[in-house]
Amino acid sequence: MSSAPLKEQELKEARPEFDRPEFDRSGRSKTAANHSEKRLVVVGSGVQEENHFVRALSDHSFELRKTKVDTLQINVGKMCNLTCQHCHVEAGPNRTEIMTPSTFDQLFALAERLEIKTVDLTGGAPEMNPDFKNFVRGFRKVGCEVIVRSNLTILVEPGYEDYIDFFVEQGIHVIASLPCYTEGAVDAQRGDGVFDASIKALQLLNEAGYGRENGKLLLDLVYNPGGASLPAAQNELELSYKKELMKHFDVSFNSLYTITNLPIGRFYSDLKKQGTAEVYDQLLRDSFNPQTVSKLMCANTLNISWDGWVYDCDFNQMLELPMSREQKALHVCDLLESDEVEGLAIATGNHCFGCTAGTGSSCGGELV
Ligand code: SF4
Ligand code: SF4
Repeated sequence: MSSAPLKEQELKEARPEFDRPEFDRSGRSKTAANHSEKRLVVVGSGVQEENHFVRALSDHSFELRKTKVDTLQINVGKMCNLTCQHCHVEAGPNRTEIMTPSTFDQLFALAERLEIKTVDLTGGAPEMNPDFKNFVRGFRKVGCEVIVRSNLTILVEPGYEDYIDFFVEQGIHVIASLPCYTEGAVDAQRGDGVFDASIKALQLLNEAGYGRENGKLLLDLVYNPGGASLPAAQNELELSYKKELMKHFDVSFNSLYTITNLPIGRFYSDLKKQGTAEVYDQLLRDSFNPQTVSKLMCANTLNISWDGWVYDCDFNQMLELPMSREQKALHVCDLLESDEVEGLAIATGNHCFGCTAGTGSSCGGELV
């Protein structure tokens, strides 16, 4: 592993050979536009009729642009031991997309160059990337705080028994999905046996020192609604989670993040099958809260796909709405040649109403 800036020839060799997403003359990603008429991309701040989100921003004199970036969110691969109903990544055991060490070498260099504070590893189950431990060590070495978004159950799978010790050794911040504190609701959303395995993993994390009040090893949980509704108030739900998990399972954790399901991926396909997709779209749109806009996570985050393409957030990645400069989709190689991103327009679509509805939503929970 090298964290030194890559030379021009190395950058050329590292760049994937497949084509970048094509853009039409309005700056719209052809790939994305083909997915759905509702998924029109606006690269730049111009208002287009189909993108109601840009219109809502414009009505409040907002335009979304990159600020100084301090967070890299990296999707290290789509492989997962689960196939959850709400998964926006459509991850699962049969997905083969996996980030390789050469892309990570580029990201170590980028993290140093941009003075990135936080690296947020997601997937899939990030632990299933065969080079996961080397990746974590590499980012710790260049001084980044590392977050791992764990589905918990992977930590009690054979072959992963030493991962909690590794988390402790590296001082990793664990953010774990647990969509409810009851077995029925969790298993309905994530699969049979997931609740029991998650509780077991939480108990092991607690034994290792995670999730203790005033402790240094942070363990946060993530809640997302099971259906077409906005999450309940985060602080109230956190109190209920803490009370119930301690009472029944002797489990403690630090904070609960409530996250709104964005109308994409497996979750949105399910809503379409149930005939509630339009109602949900309307709910998100009617709940637009302008106070959330200045706090959206896409402003200070770069999201990286398993093959090194750069996005404003994980949702845009799943919709293939890349970050772009001069109408060209950005790869991490481009940022190593020129890391100027502040001021670039954020690619938006109607799915963005999921982040601005009610109290807002981000990978760190409520926004206001
Ligand atoms: S939601 Fe998380 S745990 Fe579930 S399938 Fe998707 S990536 Fe895996
Ligand atoms: S989905 Fe949310 S985080 Fe992503 S670009 Fe839209 S508003 Fe920003």
